[in-house]
Amino acid sequence: MNDEITVRLREDFPILSREVYGKTLVYLDNAATTQKPRCVVEAISDEYYNVNANVHRGVHFLSQQATELHEQSRETVRQFIGADSTSEIVFTRGTTESINLLASCLRQIGTLNAKENGCGNPQKKNAQREIIVSTLEHHSNIVPWQLNGFKVRPIPMIDNGMPDMDAYRLMFNENTALVAVTQVSNVLGTINPVKEIIRIAHDNNICVLIDGAQSTPHMKVDVKDMDCDFFAFSGHKIYGPTGVGVLYGKERLLEQLPPYQGGGEMIRNVSFELTTFNDLPYKFEAGTPDYVGTHSLAAALDYVTAVGMDCIHHHEQELYRYAVKQMMEIEGMVIYGVTDGQGQMLNADISECAGPISFKVGNIHHLDLGTLLDRLGIAIRTGHHCAEPLMHRLGIEGTARASFGLYNTFDEIDRFVAGIRRVAQMFG
Ligand code: PLP
Repeated sequence: MNDEITVRLREDFPILSREVYGKTLVYLDNAATTQKPRCVVEAISDEYYNVNANVHRGVHFLSQQATELHEQSRETVRQFIGADSTSEIVFTRGTTESINLLASCLRQIGTLNAKENGCGNPQKKNAQREIIVSTLEHHSNIVPWQLNGFKVRPIPMIDNGMPDMDAYRLMFNENTALVAVTQVSNVLGTINPVKEIIRIAHDNNICVLIDGAQSTPHMKVDVKDMDCDFFAFSGHKIYGPTGVGVLYGKERLLEQLPPYQGGGEMIRNVSFELTTFNDLPYKFEAGTPDYVGTHSLAAALDYVTAVGMDCIHHHEQELYRYAVKQMMEIEGMVIYGVTDGQGQMLNADISECAGPISFKVGNIHHLDLGTLLDRLGIAIRTGHHCAEPLMHRLGIEGTARASFGLYNTFDEIDRFVAGIRRVAQMFG
């Protein structure tokens, strides 16, 4: 994507031209949430102004039209992630709820049949069931498992953020219930070797959930090519609305799971004695869904598809490399997962990275760095990024983090790097 295209795309995002503290905003907090293009905001207002009615319930015109938009959105999601069927697309409130859904349902049945006609992992009675995760996980792929009585076992991490695959191969036992790993780290930007992780889990007859919160906005995702069993992502991280997300699951596996919550929509028949449940995916969608959210999520997916996921990935890779190269020239710079603190690269090849950059400069506290950059109009994130176990592994409390989106420019990286230099000077 050349700068001319980026400049044109930026016009779709009105917020990017606003000023903070008298300076044009440089928004580098895209891993937390992305800004919204006009088409997404218009999809929201258009639905409220012209279509609004509850879905799947009314015979009247508006209800039918709202239902059609909602179900078309499911088809848009299906195509976007390459699923076989819309039965496999469950709408949720976001990645966090998708993982809670799976954790709660899996607790009830204990094990899943990873293989067609398989019988699942014959787990020991009363033994605590285990979820294998990577060290990089966001709290939302740790806590739901703990809350549902699972033991969470991390794959040891090597210094460049990659999982130790030899150790991983040895982690399976009769109590393993699932492997649940993020595709891209929200802290280090590491891209986990998910295909290999999935292949090994399947060899052990274990299913895999991929947390796609940080991959979906930055690269083409294909759940069938990956062969993951479940996949979760959030609308707001991919230029869509807040409060809506997706859980993909292979139809055969979703069929094995009990419902998540009870209420309208998820039932077939209800009596005071007995309730029977609806077909997929509605079995998991109790209550009125966020049909305005799903419609505007589809608008966001159409938007990034029109720009081109490969184009976005390539552009963000270039921004990443450009930023890392300049940042490395700043004295005292440590980029976690990329450099070793003595200026040496941990990864010989960073060409595949396009995720967030987590860093520190000398002894400057990340909070000071973030606050002072903010005064220069540059929005970054500071703290533990909801990944405390990773912070423990790195032996730190937190980092400063810059993360890019399709609308960021090389000029903005220049301003960001100049801002870090200025802060570093202030601290002597
Ligand atoms: N997983 C990862 C890797 C994330 O980065 C995040 C959010 O930052 C989440 C899960 C949770 O996403 P949400 O808050 O949209 O549910």
